[in-house]
Amino acid sequence: MTRAWNFSAGPAAMPEAVLQQAASEMLDWHGSGMGVMEMSHRGKEFISIYEQAEADLRELLAVPANFRILFMQGGGLAENAIVPLNLSQGGAMDFVLTGSWSQKSHKEAGKYGNARVAATAQADGFSTLPDPALWQIGTDSRYVHICGNETIHGVEFHELPDLKALGCDAPLVVDFSSHVASRPVDWSRVGLAFGGAQKNLGPAGLTLVIVREDLIGRALSACPSAFDYKLVADNQSMYNTPPTYSIYMAGLVFQWLKAQGGVTAMEQRNIAKAQLLYDFIDGSQLYTNPVDKACRSRMNVPFFLRGDDGQPLMDATHPRNTAFLNATKAAGLLQLKGHKSVGGMRASIYNAMPIEGVQALIACMRDFEKTQA
Ligand SMILES: *Cc1c(COP(=O)(O)O)cnc(C)c1O
Repeated sequence: MTRAWNFSAGPAAMPEAVLQQAASEMLDWHGSGMGVMEMSHRGKEFISIYEQAEADLRELLAVPANFRILFMQGGGLAENAIVPLNLSQGGAMDFVLTGSWSQKSHKEAGKYGNARVAATAQADGFSTLPDPALWQIGTDSRYVHICGNETIHGVEFHELPDLKALGCDAPLVVDFSSHVASRPVDWSRVGLAFGGAQKNLGPAGLTLVIVREDLIGRALSACPSAFDYKLVADNQSMYNTPPTYSIYMAGLVFQWLKAQGGVTAMEQRNIAKAQLLYDFIDGSQLYTNPVDKACRSRMNVPFFLRGDDGQPLMDATHPRNTAFLNATKAAGLLQLKGHKSVGGMRASIYNAMPIEGVQALIACMRDFEKTQA
């Protein structure tokens, strides 16, 4: 068996040790005589898996006691509706548009209330972050939404905005789908954070919501019961059947993260990996990354190949792009094609990607550049 280096943006590569452990426990979990998929979510076996996963996550992310951890379903996109259903109270919400994902969140929230744009980086092609000091946040704002890491455009907040310091009392909502657990979170600045698991935590199907207690219990009456944070919280995420196997897998990832030294250790590795790749791209003649250096994502590195005229090749069908993808695939480097909305290439280098994978990618990119001279 050979496992390739997998640069998928999500569902993404999992730590190999986690997959091996899951494989060994597939048929019989801890002598219970059954696999995790086959357990009642109300049985003592699964409850112990769930409680361990929650406790490990709380420890890893240093989640304060006045925040609840909810294991939900529906992915990041469902939260684009579930958050306004729970927090908007039919009022106004402010969105900072920094790429495709925050744009989607803004559009969806408009179905449930007055979704305003506090700032947008669209005019810059989403290659930079608008300065928080210039955000236009209404005094009646129910919450301010940001996407912590724009998975498609490769733009990341390296510091969460301090809304209180900007004179704003509204809670900050962060979509942290694609950088959760890659770095510590400053919870003093956060009201709610949500994310799908399939980028950095585990398999698809699980959606993590971490919400300050005082924000629970405000849902619109039209909010589906299964998505009402109060019902979910009051029932320990088991108001209805939770995604049991995905919770188990995420729990194994949490244990793996703890064994790696936790999220501060992961952050150091992620900085080193990203630095290596960006430095190579910046130093090359063939490759280019369009994002401002101050807000480049450590998780998702979009890049373009240049044409003979030196301009980025936006056309996905250009023979040089095709040749690059063939060369990387032949070298055992998978899923490097950029998102169809922006074109080019994208290397997603989440927690599970070791530095050796980034080194292999750079070696292949360097070899390919030589063939194009
Ligand atoms: C992937 C992603 C989503 C969407 O997640 P789904 O699980 O497909 O709904 C939302 N936000 C961000 C930042 C993402 O990377």
